[in-house]
Amino acid sequence: MNELGRTEDLLGRDTELLWHPYSSLTAPSPTRLVTGADGVRLQLADGAGGTVEAIDAMASWWCMIHGYRNPVLDQALKDQVDRFSHVMFGGLTHEPAVRLAERLVDLTPDPLRHVFFCDSGSVSVEVAMKLALQYQVARGRTGRTRMLTVRGGYHGDTFAPMSVCDPVNGMHSLFTGALKEQVFGPQPPAGFDRAADDPELVAWAGELRSVAARSSDEIAAIIVEPILQGAGGMYPYSPACLRVLREVADEYGFLLILDEIATGFGRTGTLFASEHAGVDPDILCVGKALTGGYLTLAAMLCTAEVARTVSDGPGGALMHGPTFMANPLACSVALASIDLLLGQDWQAEIDRISTGLATGLAPAAELPGVKDVRVIGAVGVVQLAGPVDLPRMTDAVLRRGVWVRPFRDLVYTMPPYVCTDSDIATIGTAITEAIAESN
Ligand SMILES: *Cc1c(COP(=O)(O)O)cnc(C)c1O
Repeated sequence: MNELGRTEDLLGRDTELLWHPYSSLTAPSPTRLVTGADGVRLQLADGAGGTVEAIDAMASWWCMIHGYRNPVLDQALKDQVDRFSHVMFGGLTHEPAVRLAERLVDLTPDPLRHVFFCDSGSVSVEVAMKLALQYQVARGRTGRTRMLTVRGGYHGDTFAPMSVCDPVNGMHSLFTGALKEQVFGPQPPAGFDRAADDPELVAWAGELRSVAARSSDEIAAIIVEPILQGAGGMYPYSPACLRVLREVADEYGFLLILDEIATGFGRTGTLFASEHAGVDPDILCVGKALTGGYLTLAAMLCTAEVARTVSDGPGGALMHGPTFMANPLACSVALASIDLLLGQDWQAEIDRISTGLATGLAPAAELPGVKDVRVIGAVGVVQLAGPVDLPRMTDAVLRRGVWVRPFRDLVYTMPPYVCTDSDIATIGTAITEAIAESN
């Protein structure tokens, strides 16, 4: 079989066999074959027996911050393979887990002291919610079994996280009766720069407070994505809103869970997005960029007070323990990724990308059919007036050498931090031209 034959054969078998994210097996959307990846570029089969290169403007769903085949991360992984690849975490421990936990406790807001490792972001959110429920039981507040969140959020695809995703975009109607009914407050008003005394923000805070007051006896914790709602709509909001959520939590004895799975490790311009607001959570979730995109790993961190209360409470333990907890390969590559990030002037790199994206996407704001262009940290978003034609837009951007995966009305980029200025310019131009062409 020649190259073209092999590609067509693989794609055909894929279509027959495989679910892709949010996909149908009877009406599959186009899927491309990756034949290699290096630096910030993917090599894709071109459908004619050759390959094309494309800058990965998605960083493999916001994870691959240092690029593909990064020599430092590759080496960290190989070194750990030569020691051991996995051991159970029940009754056993290892250096990569201990060192990574220390590192995370050092880097995250001060009150966070203890770490639970798990396999994916969704599972870390499950564990965070479970911990909050166990905390309230230990405090004798057994009626507090619900979460308070805001509309527009995204926290993962397993059932507990799904219950706190936006009820409309999260398609709660499909799962009525199977999902825990959580308490939803209004979405914070749009815009990072909104001041605390901004009238819309004050009105939002008032509504949020009354929702909280109405159900306070039932609420265990507030859970939100700080500063930037990601998969719910690439939607930045003011640090002042996060401070309101902290106040409300303190007032009623709710815990505050911050989901930094998307925002952690510099993406919004601070190492963790909560730093924009100076707000410390009781529980924090990190994932995605944690391993530099190499392996699946997430972590839940909590304060000493929460850990002590749950450990001394009924059950006497946090009731969770995944098979692949604290996988040594994943922990090793995460340590290497964090060292690589902090070993450079990462803030300057994010600022550089931010400026490049703002410049590159600015012309899109003038195009018909474009509703909004926004940039926060290393995140660039073009919001259209209506839904994106996914296959057509993906194609149009790819023809210009860039890989994107738009959703709903959004064409956006969260590029690897190692993109050069010229890569960032290419991403900006490709997105802008593709949108212009589609109108
Ligand atoms: C991606 C994401 C999750 C889910 O993480 P998975 O690793 O896909 O389970 C949860 N919360 C936020 C904010 C995310 O962006």
